[in-house]
Amino acid sequence: MSVTVVGSIAFDAVKTPFGERERMLGGAATHFALAASFFDEVHVVGPVGTDFGEQELATLATRGTDTGDVERVPDGKTFFWKGEYGWDLNSRETLDTQLNVFEHFEPKLSQASRDCDVLFLANIQPELQRRVLEQCGEPQLVALDSMNLWIDVAREALVDVITKVDCVILNDAELRQLTAKPNLIAAAREVLGWGPSVVVAKQGEYGAALITDEGFFALPAYPLETVVDPTGAGDTFAGGFVGYLARRSERSPSATTLRQAMAYGTALASYNVEEFGTERVTRLTSEEIVGRVDDLRRVTQFEHDPILIETG
Ligand code: AMP
Repeated sequence: MSVTVVGSIAFDAVKTPFGERERMLGGAATHFALAASFFDEVHVVGPVGTDFGEQELATLATRGTDTGDVERVPDGKTFFWKGEYGWDLNSRETLDTQLNVFEHFEPKLSQASRDCDVLFLANIQPELQRRVLEQCGEPQLVALDSMNLWIDVAREALVDVITKVDCVILNDAELRQLTAKPNLIAAAREVLGWGPSVVVAKQGEYGAALITDEGFFALPAYPLETVVDPTGAGDTFAGGFVGYLARRSERSPSATTLRQAMAYGTALASYNVEEFGTERVTRLTSEEIVGRVDDLRRVTQFEHDPILIETG
């Protein structure tokens, strides 16, 4: 199976209570690709500027990711985002967003990117997500992420793309904002009513919830004592979730497969937050991922412990 992703490829300036980076490789497509490349062949689509170096390109190409559709714009500057986190890392303020090369980007996908089995529309202008979707043949699965900025400035275009995808992965606050519904389950049901069959609500340190027409499933985040930088956790989760679904290659993923995908997304995201930006996931191994997925399985089996039921 192959996965194509379009989304931001960025330089990030990030400040957390544990340190700061003035300029590090980031972007939604970058974090997604680093995670999804554990499962499948990944093609990245998006522009960068002349300031994007060979080293950054090499990191993007980790585990064989195809960067042939990463277009270097002459005289252009790479997308830039600056953010700062509060003391418990639960709140984040965006201090600067510069679209730069994304402002006038016209995606032209190679045949290999068009022929993907799975398409991930990572966070970027919804209009751009739509133009990439239109160029792809008939992927088995199309998933989408977005953020508050696009709900604020391009809600109509975003809702339009959502009606054309199978799976929506958003933060809980974004789901509420998008649907103007204060209740998370009601918000997810509203989105399911627009066409998608799967909604994932990311809840930061509290984990993630999966809502489909058939039911509900939630996983806690992997319990970590050291969290250094949450930037890209959502995209890394999406890379693990969507990458695993692509690897399983089921036309309509079963409830069990979706739950396993949640565990892979959760395990990958837990590694991402242990260091700044892409630092940890770049040198991660499959064995480490499987180790945390197994831990999560043990944790979730707890609720089926018969002793708890007997003494209740
Ligand atoms: P996350 O922490 O998963 O929400 O994603 C953080 C990544 O999203 C950073 O690496 C940023 O470069 C990228 N990002 C921030 N704002 C935007 C935006 N408006 N559009 C696209 N990507 C963004």
